[in-house]
Order: sequence, then C-alpha cells, then structure tokens
Amino acid sequence: MKLCIFNDYRVGVVDGDSLRDVTAAVPGHQGRASSFFWVEMCRDFEQIRPTLADAAKTAPGLPLDQVKLHAPVLNPPKIIAAASNYSDHVTEMQSRVDMTWMLDFDIFLKAPSSVLDPFGEIRLPPVRDREAHHEVELAVVIGRTGADIPEEEALEYILGYTILLDITVRGKGDRSRRKSYDTFSPIGPWLVTADDIADPHDLDLKLWVNEDLRQDANTNHLLVSIPGMISYASSIMTLQPGDVFSTGTPAGVGPINPGDSIRATIEGIGTLRVSVGERQPPLSR
Ligand code: MN
Repeated sequence: MKLCIFNDYRVGVVDGDSLRDVTAAVPGHQGRASSFFWVEMCRDFEQIRPTLADAAKTAPGLPLDQVKLHAPVLNPPKIIAAASNYSDHVTEMQSRVDMTWMLDFDIFLKAPSSVLDPFGEIRLPPVRDREAHHEVELAVVIGRTGADIPEEEALEYILGYTILLDITVRGKGDRSRRKSYDTFSPIGPWLVTADDIADPHDLDLKLWVNEDLRQDANTNHLLVSIPGMISYASSIMTLQPGDVFSTGTPAGVGPINPGDSIRATIEGIGTLRVSVGERQPPLSR
C-alpha cells in the first residue's frame, strides 16, 4: 500500500496516477491542528490496514497532480541517518575529508524540522565558500517501539519505505549542523508499506540534477544491511513509531545550486522532485 499525506494533512492511498482519500477511516484524525494521528497510524497500522483498504475501494479518486503532497512523515520523533554506507561513496569522499573516522560507518541525527515536502524548494544558506551536495537515500519509516532489537527481528519494526534526500553542506563541522538546515531533508513522494517491497536490498536508486544523471546505484551495495543499521541504532536510542531512518548514499554526490531541479527515483517507490533556491540572508541592521 502506498500512503500519502496531502492538502490539509489528509491521508491518501495512492492508486496509479490518483489517490483515494481515506482520511475518514484514520483513527484520531482531527485536521491539521494535530499531527499525532500519523504517529499513532504508524504504530497501529497492521490493525487499521483492512479499514483503510476498504475505504480506498470506495473513495473517489483524486488526480495526484491536483493535490498538494506533503512529506509522508509528520513530526517524526527523530531522523536517523547512516554515514559511509556505500563503499564507492566512501572512496569518493577520501580526497575531501581529512578526518578518517568520517569514512567509517556510523549513524547521526538530522533535525526533524529539516523535512521538505515533495515539489518544495531547498533553500541553500548564504554560505558561499562551501558546496551543498545532494545525497539520494532509501529511507525506512519505523512502525514499532524498540530498543536493543536483534538483527533477525529488525525487519518487523519497519512500517515502510520512502525516498530521502540528505542535503549536506560539505566541509568542516558537525554533520548534524551541516545536514539540518531547514529544507535539507526532502522526503517522499509517499510511503510504500514493507509488504510491497519484496527485497529492500535490491532496489535501483537514481538521482538527476536537471538532466544530468548524477547517482545511479542499487541498495545491494549497502555496507551495513538495513537490519544491521536498525539493530545498531536501537542499541543506542529507542526507536519510536514515525522515526525515519535514512540508509546512506552511493557515489556520485555533487553540488546543487539555485535554479537547479532535482529528481530522484527508487525502484518500487516512485519519484521525488524538488527545486533549489536560496535562503534570504537576514536584513542588515
Ligand atoms: Mn547521507
């Protein structure tokens, strides 16, 4: 099932080029004033899934190009991201980083406030001596609370999959700052539930800047598997329903600039499109 959030934070089931509005079947949905329904939906999805599926059968279709899509996450408790999880990306970064520990697999956090909707605009900060780069990544949305999760049970904690662009200012400084500017985590265009992804470790992922294919890889090259990442992260921090876990980027990262259009596709999920603009510097006083 492909789940999306649209217009006034309504919930849709994507069906080809249209969506079915199943908001009335979502427990606790009270309009845009509260987003907690989403976290509860992530947690209780298995129980409410049959109701949503029934509602989708009878709801009228709305063409996807006539709705405002939001990122398929609402107030994620946290966004965890994997660093250095494809060997070809580690290799391309060797000439760029002088701290070798940055080339080892690890996890870091991105601010939840950095989420950007599909078709949104990445606003680059006025830091002209640094490049901002694109990183296309398969992202996991967590559906259950868990700590110290064994690898062999980790897949049971996944609600579904989506696309995340881990936009990054290169250079010195903590990752959590360089990757947490507002708009630096475009997510979408929807969430595909885990049962619709036969093997998350065999998905082609591609990213274009304008018409230039920059990243072209497959998740079978992940250094640490998705269960391995979930198990490791949960040995440090409790995973919660609605958490987003981004699995790392392959080679081909490169600069983005105001005026660029970015298009990212992951097999079995869809295509996420965003544009690039500039964050206006504060007025001088
Ligand atoms: Mn990344």
